[in-house]
Amino acid sequence: NNHQFYASRMNESAGERLQMENALRQAIASIGLPETCQFALHFQPQISTKNGRVVGLEALLRWTSPVFGAVSPLRFIPIAEETGLIQPLGDWVIWESCRLIHDMRQRGIAGVRVAINISAQQLRHENLLLLVRGALACYELTPDAIELEITESTAMQNPEVTLDILDQLAGMGIELAIDDFGTGHSSLAYLKHLPIKRLKLDRSFVLDIETDANDASICAAIIALGHNLGLELVAEGVETAMQSEFLSRLGCDYLQGYLYSKPLPFAEIIAYLQAQQGV
Ligand code: C2E
Ligand code: CA
Ligand code: CA
Ligand code: CA
Repeated sequence: NNHQFYASRMNESAGERLQMENALRQAIASIGLPETCQFALHFQPQISTKNGRVVGLEALLRWTSPVFGAVSPLRFIPIAEETGLIQPLGDWVIWESCRLIHDMRQRGIAGVRVAINISAQQLRHENLLLLVRGALACYELTPDAIELEITESTAMQNPEVTLDILDQLAGMGIELAIDDFGTGHSSLAYLKHLPIKRLKLDRSFVLDIETDANDASICAAIIALGHNLGLELVAEGVETAMQSEFLSRLGCDYLQGYLYSKPLPFAEIIAYLQAQQGV
């Protein structure tokens, strides 16, 4: 009986996963039609600890499916990655980010760079450089308008190919950040050679920073390491004033988290930035 129950639950989840894959495929098929597009980018501010100003925004993908409702990217991004759908979806994210930056500029918002998340498959795909160059040119943006985030584990896969692509992107003038830093197994010798500008301290270390002495030491060590390598540090998942003060005291350069703002839809982030910049 137990066995049967287990088997049927497994079938159900495999079935649901297949349904979700199909729904995702359909959503991507109509991605270019603004009226029916099921995807949107939300934006979360990154705040400078030096002056409290917004220096950047992270673009985070949202999917509202007619069948499944709002689906977390933690659920659909892995499906997109396993099925290759991340390719067209990721292309759209880059293109849409540039379109919206252009829109921000027209509303008088300047000097805020947008960080775009890039999956391992996108990084290895030969069209990434052309695509980024094309999107920047189309929306009359200079390379400093965007930053690309790749996770530590992506950076560690296939180091030679990765280094080559990152060098080309950095050569174009695009800033690169290593996401979820501290959760992977970077070799420091390798990290030193990557043309990166900043490290994003993983949220799991920030979470218990006030109560867990180990986490506090890890944060302090990562910040010091990054600075010694000439990198800037961004802490993610900052939810409390205590965490913010602690990280500022350790010299962390930028903070991102619910304490400042959740990721917001485009219209709301515009209002947030206009209030900040007084435009
Ligand atoms: P990530 O890149 O590490 O993004 C940070 C995640 O932490 C976001 O979750 C954000 O909403 C959440 N977050 C921010 N501040 C706080 C906080 O103070 N507390 C807590 N508890 N959470 C916070 P989200 O938007 O659900 O995205 C999850 C992951 O999905 C991202 O993690 C990223 O790996 C992936 N993802 C999202 N958008 C894209 C995309 O356009 N392309 C790719 N390849 N992956 C994406
Ligand atoms: Ca990220
Ligand atoms: Ca992260
Ligand atoms: Ca802990």
